[in-house]
Amino acid sequence: MTATCDLLLTNAIVLTMDETFTVHASSSVAIAGESIVAVGPDAQMYEAVETVDCRGRVVMPGLVNAHTHVPMALLRGLADDLRLDVWLMGYMMPVEREFVSPDFVRLGTRLGCAEMIRSGVTCFADMYYFEEAVAEATAAAGMRALCAQTVLRFPTPDAASYEDSLARARDFIERWRGHALIVPAPAPHAPYTCTPDILRSCAELAVEFDVPLHIHLSETELEVEESRRTHGMPVVPWVKKQGLFDAKVLAAHCVHVDDGEMRALKHANVGVAHNPTSNLKLGAGVAPVARMLELGLNVGIGTDGAASNNDLDMFEETRLAALLAKGVSGDPTALPARDALAMATRGGARAMHTDHLTGTLEAGKRADLIVVDLDRLHNVPAFRRDPNGIYAQIVYASKSTDVVDVMCNGRWLMRDRTLLTLDEAELREAARLEARRVDVFLSGREISVLQKLVAVGGAVEQESFEVQVKARVPSAEQVLAVIAGKAVTVIRSSHYHQYDTYWSFDDAEQGWLRYREDEFLDEAGKVTSARARLTLTGRTREEAFGAVLLSRSRYFAPAAHSVRFYREYFRPAAEHVVEKDRRRWLLVYRGVEFYLHLDRLLNPPSDGYFIEVKSRTWSRRDARDKAAVIAELLALFGTSPDDTISDGYVTLAAGGTGSLG
Ligand SMILES: [Zn+2]
Repeated sequence: MTATCDLLLTNAIVLTMDETFTVHASSSVAIAGESIVAVGPDAQMYEAVETVDCRGRVVMPGLVNAHTHVPMALLRGLADDLRLDVWLMGYMMPVEREFVSPDFVRLGTRLGCAEMIRSGVTCFADMYYFEEAVAEATAAAGMRALCAQTVLRFPTPDAASYEDSLARARDFIERWRGHALIVPAPAPHAPYTCTPDILRSCAELAVEFDVPLHIHLSETELEVEESRRTHGMPVVPWVKKQGLFDAKVLAAHCVHVDDGEMRALKHANVGVAHNPTSNLKLGAGVAPVARMLELGLNVGIGTDGAASNNDLDMFEETRLAALLAKGVSGDPTALPARDALAMATRGGARAMHTDHLTGTLEAGKRADLIVVDLDRLHNVPAFRRDPNGIYAQIVYASKSTDVVDVMCNGRWLMRDRTLLTLDEAELREAARLEARRVDVFLSGREISVLQKLVAVGGAVEQESFEVQVKARVPSAEQVLAVIAGKAVTVIRSSHYHQYDTYWSFDDAEQGWLRYREDEFLDEAGKVTSARARLTLTGRTREEAFGAVLLSRSRYFAPAAHSVRFYREYFRPAAEHVVEKDRRRWLLVYRGVEFYLHLDRLLNPPSDGYFIEVKSRTWSRRDARDKAAVIAELLALFGTSPDDTISDGYVTLAAGGTGSLG
């Protein structure tokens, strides 16, 4: 008796990518509804409603993009050749805060899906905001996806707080669970952007609904160093300690993991997504994938978002994975083409914990497959002596443009290179319009240091006025004697090592930006704590009362990033560094509170001591009165105001707020 099916693909080279790498030369795949019912000789027993002749072509599983941020297709080429933190915190996140909405996400997803279908991808693992919009657009495009809702410890485009984003993730999972194409999941973004509580809550959520959990792990050396410093251990054992591995985890990157960590990942059945282009482009390094495969980990290949790649081409990614493994090990037998292609199909599906549905051509799996034309000029001739030759043809010579037909869940998404579920022309035009809006926003920001400061977060306008004076003093002893004496009352004192980096810009109107790092010292001169701040100050003095200056500080931000981050982000025209040993007192003299700094310049080195006296002020009259008291105080120290001390030395402290009446 002959069985019947809906569709029979015949005369194809069938790469099943199953456990034993079965290849059927000139054979068939039988499909009924959304599933594969038979492959190879078994399929030839079927009679079909429709038959497609695939002579000269390969039929293989659709590629699995194991890690991406699909809506970021809209941010492709937004900022390149920057270090990871500048790229992420300086460009991606500010633009996302401004533009990411359900409509943006829907458009970006459709653009990304169109590109992926064209290059033979049928399934991907996503992580983004408004994930329900990603899921809707993906399902409408007919693709399969693990859609993971991002949870972060700071506000995101779709949630004001972490509690909100967790509630959003729960709601999303509840509504999309059991969908034919979409597997919903929570995505705590990364250990360094989450709290232990977020990691735990996300793992509990994933366990509760029996869905996977998507996260970035050990992407950079810096991340691992910081984990060692703050938690006393590298990233993998730390997240394990937080209970993360109770869930079915898909971990992107895992670039900096040691053998013990790889074994821990294996033991917890954590799937790994290897993202070679993104890791190279952002200078993160190369993940030890050959070793991971040796240890039996489920490793897939991902493109990461289009903003860090800059395309979603899995053919390119698979080839790079194979070449890179050889290049870094000096061993051309590392990661052969066959294993690389297995990573891009079965391995990715396993890493995503969706291999019961997709990743191989086997009876019972969903019909997620592609037809690849091997008869292009760049791929002839072909040798059939070595059974692995076909894998080399696909991995080393085929291009994504050789994909002719794409089917997902039994539905054609592309036939003869024409997309069937998405309108390419419309997407191109809509994406161009969106890019113009982002360009306008960023251009506006780039012309102002203040706007750029606001864009990286935390900047507050903190206008404060103060009178201040600087002077050389003949000796530190005389100053210390006055402080110890009866004329002044000391409220508190501190001692620190101060590193100031001043940046100026081509446009002098932008003012000075100062990055200040204070290391507080105890009596023995040991560092007890440190802090860093950014201050943007105007160049102009408000007014001078003799040598006593009235100055105004403008904007103030905690410096959450390194000095190098800010240097690369702000791109100043000039930099100069001042390093000093500073003793600081808050004291009262004649009923007025003053800050007194006794400084010894270490860099640029200078003999002798300097003092700075300053007091906050609220009105011109108050400023004038305080200037007179300062002059008396200076006389006690045996000095007088000296306005010739260089500008770079002038430090304009930001205090409370106040307006000058
Ligand atoms: Zn990523």
